[in-house]
Amino acid sequence: MDFNSSIRYVNERLQIDDCELEAIIAETGTPTYIYSLKRAGENYRRIRDLFAGPGARIHFSVKANGNLALLGALKEAGAGFDCVSGGEIYRVLQAGAAGEDIVFAGVGKTRAEIDFALESGVAWFNVENVAELDYINGAALEQGIDRARVALRLNPEVSAKTHPYMATGHGSAKFGLTADVIRQLWERQSRYSNIDFAGVHLHIGSQLGDIKATSAALDRLLELIRPHPQIRAINLGGGLPVAYRFGERAPALQDFAAAIAPRLAGYDLLLEPGRSIVADAGILVAEVLYVKRQAGQLFYVINASMAELLRPALYGAQHEIVPLLKTEGEAELAQVAGPVCESADVLARDRLMPPLRVGDKVAIMTAGAYGMTMASNYNARPRPAEVVVEESGDRWRVSRRRETWDNLTRSEV
Ligand SMILES: *Cc1c(COP(=O)(O)O)cnc(C)c1O
Repeated sequence: MDFNSSIRYVNERLQIDDCELEAIIAETGTPTYIYSLKRAGENYRRIRDLFAGPGARIHFSVKANGNLALLGALKEAGAGFDCVSGGEIYRVLQAGAAGEDIVFAGVGKTRAEIDFALESGVAWFNVENVAELDYINGAALEQGIDRARVALRLNPEVSAKTHPYMATGHGSAKFGLTADVIRQLWERQSRYSNIDFAGVHLHIGSQLGDIKATSAALDRLLELIRPHPQIRAINLGGGLPVAYRFGERAPALQDFAAAIAPRLAGYDLLLEPGRSIVADAGILVAEVLYVKRQAGQLFYVINASMAELLRPALYGAQHEIVPLLKTEGEAELAQVAGPVCESADVLARDRLMPPLRVGDKVAIMTAGAYGMTMASNYNARPRPAEVVVEESGDRWRVSRRRETWDNLTRSEV
């Protein structure tokens, strides 16, 4: 990874598009997530242009970033949405999307969520349990919906090269249905009067490290659907990788496209990218609270933690951390830690950092995906503010206010 066309230094000051980050932070305070709508739109269009033939549709995976302003911008750009809960469907509808823009996935959809999804007119159900079909069928009948469109999610029994917590396609994973079960369901499809079994779904994991596993999973999927001409749509999920460390190169999206697109001639392709659209469009800005030297170590304690950005603690993820104002002086190995009372609350371990002083602001890079959506109130920390920089590049606004202590107790009775 590297700085990109939206997030980079200009005259030693970190900027997001045409906005100086110091100026934004002077008004909003820290910690604050900041997203470039321009960069997200560019990423969306790049993926669309690489993969999209006729009939193709890109559904942004809302679990990566549910910010309403961002969802609205992606909707304007033509994206659909991949939702994994009723709450995400609700968010997407609030952002101005229509039911037909939505695909609804998830291994544990509740009946209430299925009812809500049908009422909202979602385009597809990605189904992962046999019993789910009975419920969708009954609910569709009850609501007078002729046919609910279903893509059965194949568990291809293929292991993706990624972090174990991000792999979903191996046989022992809770996700999807085995090929045998899917074949049986297609044979018995007449039992489901109000379901249209028009698609098949596959998502073997996130941050996919190579194309081989995707390609092998696609082989299994194509073999499965060959005898079933009613299958018109193939949803290949998300998982397109991004680089997090300076100098790191993720497998090129072009290579995924080249391995996938030519084999899908005649089918409608659906994709559900999340990370690859928003990760490098966002940063989390924090402030140095303390500088401490102890037991031969240099600690920078900052006011962002695992509560605001869980990925380092959850996955051992490594995000680059850079000062908003480039500093002189020699880099030194440091631990960049948050204030939360957990030893896992270290955002960067043994990292070469430029010299920082109390009050300096830093940007945690590539934080646009699985950042705010995974944020919690652990240690009674109010969740951070979110800022979006408009696509024009020269205007920004707070799209979500920082939570207050009142937010922490408001729901308690
Ligand atoms: C998480 C998820 C995605 C998005 O994955 P990314 O790695 O962010 O692209 C897409 N589809 C499904 C079913 C998912 O669970």
